[in-house]
Amino acid sequence: MTAEEFAALCVAPSCTLREALAALNSTGRGVLLVLHPDGRLRRTLTDGDLRRAALNHVSDTSPVSQLPEQHPITIGTDGTYAAGMALLDKHQIDHLPVIDPAGRVSDVMFRRELSQRIWLSSPHLGEEETAFVEDAFRTNWIAPLGPHVDGFERELAAYAGIGHAAAVSSGTAAIHLALLLLGVKPGDTVFCSSLTFVGSCNPILYCGAQPVFVDSEPETWNMSPAALERALEWAQREGRLPRCVIIVNLYGQSADMDALLPLCERYGVAVLEDAAESLGAQYKGTASGGFGRIGVYSFNGNKIITTSGGGMLVADDPAVAERARKLATQAREPAAHYEHVEVGFNYRMSNVLAGIGRGQLRVLDQRVAQRRQVFDNYRKELADQSLVAWMPEPEGFRSTRWLTCFTLQGKDAGARRDLVLRSLERHSIEARPVWKPMHQQPLFRGAPYFPHSTGDVSASLFEAGICLPSGSNLTPEQQARVIEQLRRALAEDRRAAA
Ligand SMILES: *Cc1c(COP(=O)(O)O)cnc(C)c1O
Repeated sequence: MTAEEFAALCVAPSCTLREALAALNSTGRGVLLVLHPDGRLRRTLTDGDLRRAALNHVSDTSPVSQLPEQHPITIGTDGTYAAGMALLDKHQIDHLPVIDPAGRVSDVMFRRELSQRIWLSSPHLGEEETAFVEDAFRTNWIAPLGPHVDGFERELAAYAGIGHAAAVSSGTAAIHLALLLLGVKPGDTVFCSSLTFVGSCNPILYCGAQPVFVDSEPETWNMSPAALERALEWAQREGRLPRCVIIVNLYGQSADMDALLPLCERYGVAVLEDAAESLGAQYKGTASGGFGRIGVYSFNGNKIITTSGGGMLVADDPAVAERARKLATQAREPAAHYEHVEVGFNYRMSNVLAGIGRGQLRVLDQRVAQRRQVFDNYRKELADQSLVAWMPEPEGFRSTRWLTCFTLQGKDAGARRDLVLRSLERHSIEARPVWKPMHQQPLFRGAPYFPHSTGDVSASLFEAGICLPSGSNLTPEQQARVIEQLRRALAEDRRAAA
């Protein structure tokens, strides 16, 4: 709903019943808001109210102030869509005026809008997945392992141009195995990008190792080479060079590998590439995920392609993939009687889910094109918004735009970001802040942190950053709804800043 559409719903107590009927017809939302001169809500007005007034012989030239005052059900500006839905259901109503902290009506939640929620990134299945899943059922290959697991590994490795792949139950499981394969032991140090999802670094704790966090650079939002260099110098002085560096590729975009990899090489430190969010992206013509000694993808429900849940570990060294498969199946030795000499995990992907993955892989390039199109549309439609700075895509990078992200420019970005998010939420649009950096998380309190040369970049990106709905299955109507609502929120933001 635009600001103009909202304004058209607001009428003064002096408005006549006839004028109200005309306003109800022209706005078509089924409700008007009768406001006191100071903006407080006097009552709502529906077709039913007007019909009842007519039956009670109230003349249609009377002002609406003739109708009794009312205390309609309302919600505060911090009301979530779930809270709004619950109130609508509880009171069996279809609209909910939103009251700001000053007691004025600032918005309306509508059942129609709330029930058509726009998700941040929802699964998007193609046409071939069911055929693969049916094949798994028909051949009774429901267990982990099976032809689709092998096929998915082969096909993904070929897609990414990496030698070998091991399919596992999640991206987090793949990172855990990768750390073990790189020899991470209790007490070891592991470097990781600070601006990421916790799945990148929880496995450091599984291994009993100590995380050290490295800031982002403004150019890519990914690991800052300057910060990494200082972190490595420090680690060498302290005699605790990391066992590996986890370089994360955020929101569909690769980190600047040409700047980061030589630093790791100089210190002889292995790289684990967390490409959970960047499957389908390219860096200087090469597929994202193949730059480290080990790379990891995720097929969680919100990722660019999904198996509902799953992950993949990739490496050029066949022995690494082979060992990953072994550790993922309880570290069984090749003996009929289940011989075990080391700790293993139940991390393998099932054949059914691998079937879904094979179908999804066939539409991956299409999904990339669709996500990029969503981004282009936002950028084009919001080109006039001076307070919006889109996540950059430097020359030579090809992001999938897994999520369309921007930062709000100007002062007090954190509080303003929350107001924008709440405004979208009231209209059932799922947007999110950019990841809260790991060095700010209570879980990792006390972990060393190395900021970028110009200051704490990841903290500012978190403070000012917003991720918009970006699914490859967003309809043009849904995109228009997000744009319209965002425009309104940004206009309010500008007014508040002025
Ligand atoms: C999603 C994600 C993971 C974890 O993957 P799961 O499959 O959800 O376990 C790890 N790192 C990043 C950056 C992610 O976005």
